[in-house]
Amino acid sequence: MGRLPAILGGAPRFPQRVPVTRPTLDADDALMAQIKGILESGMLTGGGNVAAFEDEAADFLGVAHAVAVGSCTTGLMLTLRALRTSRGAVLPSFTFMATAHAAAWQGLTPVLADCDPDTYTLTAHSLAPVLGEGIGAVLAVHVFGACCDADGLAELTGRHGIPLVLDSAHAFGARYPDGTMVGGKGAAEVFSFSPTKVLAAGEGGLVATNSAELAAAVRTLREYGNPGDYDARAIGLNGRMTEIAAAICRAGLRALPERLARRSELVGRYRSLLGPIPGLRFQTVPAGATSTHKDLVVQVDADLLGLTRGQLAAALAAEGIDTRNYFDPPLHTQTAYRGFARRPVGLPETEHASRTLLSLPLYSHMAADLVDGICETIASLHERSDEAAAATTKRTASVT
Ligand SMILES: *Cc1c(COP(=O)(O)O)cnc(C)c1O
Repeated sequence: MGRLPAILGGAPRFPQRVPVTRPTLDADDALMAQIKGILESGMLTGGGNVAAFEDEAADFLGVAHAVAVGSCTTGLMLTLRALRTSRGAVLPSFTFMATAHAAAWQGLTPVLADCDPDTYTLTAHSLAPVLGEGIGAVLAVHVFGACCDADGLAELTGRHGIPLVLDSAHAFGARYPDGTMVGGKGAAEVFSFSPTKVLAAGEGGLVATNSAELAAAVRTLREYGNPGDYDARAIGLNGRMTEIAAAICRAGLRALPERLARRSELVGRYRSLLGPIPGLRFQTVPAGATSTHKDLVVQVDADLLGLTRGQLAAALAAEGIDTRNYFDPPLHTQTAYRGFARRPVGLPETEHASRTLLSLPLYSHMAADLVDGICETIASLHERSDEAAAATTKRTASVT
């Protein structure tokens, strides 16, 4: 028998705590020199780094145009505006709130669809029942870094003559089953470089598209709608990426293949160590596709594991292991969307996923023995699940 779990009175396995994620930032000499150069030049925006990052990112993604923006949320807002979308926007309820916010800021009514039980993404099957009159756009998400079926969705939106926009916040560096990089499908794909993403720059985003017209429109909109002559052609925003963020993105892009390989290795380790424990299931990545593993998520079957998602999270917290419930609550139960979003169909898969998924710690520079320790801890909790479940319930009862 293993160590005594902390929830049963043992010493916490990780008194220093393991964060659920942490940005990987290599402050190497090349990057520091670049940042020094930016400060000395006085060009804090609109200098060479943003333009160079756009070229390098377009090359990396294999797309014709890349427009750097201040965040993914801004990029989605500007894309939906540039496409002149109106009326309703179908999007999954199982996503981060920013997907819906971008649509709502463009004046679109979010129409929430269910997700697939294995990939947790919007599929043609979950989209079809809510498409129809009054829908002006579809937003789909590459959940946790694994791609959604963008081709299947595009075929359906194409038949209805409406644009498909991909919220690719989690998926910079992922590949589709056809081998192409995520970034080239739909009307546009929009990425995030916020702190929890694999390529983190503090804040930042990128609109990738093969449409010259859309890229030009987003470029003008991110600059207050001012093409340069101070005669605003549209009601734009300040949606710019800063030069320092672009320099961090450029350094991150160089390191990305290595980071992604490292994450795959760590996820492989998680899968092989947790795989034998009954009641834990992993997200399905479509055959031939590769995920960025932005998050490492397990789905808890409480009957088989002997612990609910909440009990497992509480027992791990007692050991010093941080977890997250992504995405819980789902959009349709959040205060801002409860009365506003439409929900024409039931969302059983969304509700099940949001109640049972748990994100475990994963970051690109994480040590492999941390993964081993976390997996051993989960195994020992499963071995003593009756006692552990009772102890978490007691603990919750005593604080409420
Ligand atoms: C992080 C995230 C966003 C927002 O990205 P920002 O760059 O912070 O605006 C949008 N959608 C999803 C799915 C995200 O996880």
